[in-house]
Amino acid sequence: AVLVVRRVRRRRRWNRVLAVLKEFEEACSTSVGRLRQVVDAMAVEMHAGLASEGGSKLKMLLSFVQNLPTGNEKGIFYALDIGGTYFRVLRVQLGDKRSAVVECDVERQPIPQELMTSTSEDLFDFITSSLKQFIEKEGGGSELLPGRRRDLGLTFSFPVKQTSVSSGHLIKWTKGFRIKDLVGKDVAECLQQAINKKGLNVRVSTLVNDAVGTLTLGHYHDPDTVAGVIIGTGTNACYLERTDAIIKCQGLLRTSGVMAINMEWGNFWSAHLPRTSYDMDLDVDSPNPNDQGFEKMISGMYLGEIARRVIFRMAQESDFFGPVSPRLSVPFTLTTPLMSAMHEDESGDLREVTRILDHALGIPNVPLKVRRLLVKVCDIVTRRAARLAAAGIVGILKKIGRDGSGGVTSGKTRGSGDSKIRRTVVAIEGALYTNYRSFREYLNEALDEILGEDISQHVTLQVTEDGSGVGAALLAACHSSNSVDK
Ligand code: BGC
Ligand code: MG
Repeated sequence: AVLVVRRVRRRRRWNRVLAVLKEFEEACSTSVGRLRQVVDAMAVEMHAGLASEGGSKLKMLLSFVQNLPTGNEKGIFYALDIGGTYFRVLRVQLGDKRSAVVECDVERQPIPQELMTSTSEDLFDFITSSLKQFIEKEGGGSELLPGRRRDLGLTFSFPVKQTSVSSGHLIKWTKGFRIKDLVGKDVAECLQQAINKKGLNVRVSTLVNDAVGTLTLGHYHDPDTVAGVIIGTGTNACYLERTDAIIKCQGLLRTSGVMAINMEWGNFWSAHLPRTSYDMDLDVDSPNPNDQGFEKMISGMYLGEIARRVIFRMAQESDFFGPVSPRLSVPFTLTTPLMSAMHEDESGDLREVTRILDHALGIPNVPLKVRRLLVKVCDIVTRRAARLAAAGIVGILKKIGRDGSGGVTSGKTRGSGDSKIRRTVVAIEGALYTNYRSFREYLNEALDEILGEDISQHVTLQVTEDGSGVGAALLAACHSSNSVDK
């Protein structure tokens, strides 16, 4: 009799855990129909954000980047890339011919946690110290000689209201950064001051968002590139818009040509997004509630945390995990790299999952059957994220008439036959896309599903390497007064 009671209890527990999973899966549903609604909403919000200041949650920020590098830039240029998790210094040597990034030295280091919430002075001091060391090392000291000023492109991966290609103030922080005194200040100017203080003969000649850098490098290698997408710690996209479509600044810009628009799509919102109670709780507990809703469903900073919340719920519903582990209840203990390692554990008995549950979350001895469910949780989280990102990309293509819905477009054609669909390249970057195979596959699969094969065969996602940094160096080069090396 005791055995029977135990078995019945175990069954009930199992059913409760299954119910949590099932409910979550349904709430995360991303049918093609739903994704198409997201596509439409994205295109509508893009229009609204271009029509008037504050017309949409999508800020559609001007970059003032209207001239993209031609390939004729020459010389040595520096770039600083301040983003999410890492900070990078680059030295790029440009040669004569197109695609002639002759040499590129990159130094990457994690941004110390305490600097993310410190003062702007601390942040810029740290950064310029690294820059100084880097210049001294790379240039053997001769770089610092008077009269040999270098141009530097600053990639600053946060929403910035630009006033020119080399100036702009920080609108707000995202991705866990919280340096209060920098909000509202000119970021390039702050960096320039810190550089001057260090006595470096370097001029900050461009200030760009990382997505703009990615688009720039993509376009440098392949002129059919129309957009740049970042899916890393945070997420964002930018694309080339016709200046005459930027209604909110009519009169201010020349009417011909294009400009890179920094969409800040992390803040996109639509009622069509499949939002769950876990997303809502995560938002409330985040440092920026009600902000960056799209980003919180897609980017690396949050995916592991969504999964942790679901697993925590499962633990509360059953004692499969023993008493609820205190570590499991701490936000952000399950990082996205750990989650992807669980998701992509290919050992038949899910050994890696066991290891991570034990070491990172403090829950040993989870039965195989339950471990499988946890892998499923990771899968649901990642699949939804990747498919939403794909819908965002198609939203951009729709806005610029490259999604096939606008009928036949004129211009360059590719391939033979009657196809008049223009080849379209989207440059993409960020650890989530490049390091997480399932994410990448889900994203590409969703692109095909939404666009249909006829169109999607003309759309290429091209990974750029260090585009956010190298792109900024290229822009520094084409906005430099001395593009030819002295
Ligand atoms: C920022 C964007 C940035 C993106 C990717 C977001 O949190 O708001 O400016 O491009 O992360 O780094
Ligand atoms: Mg970055």
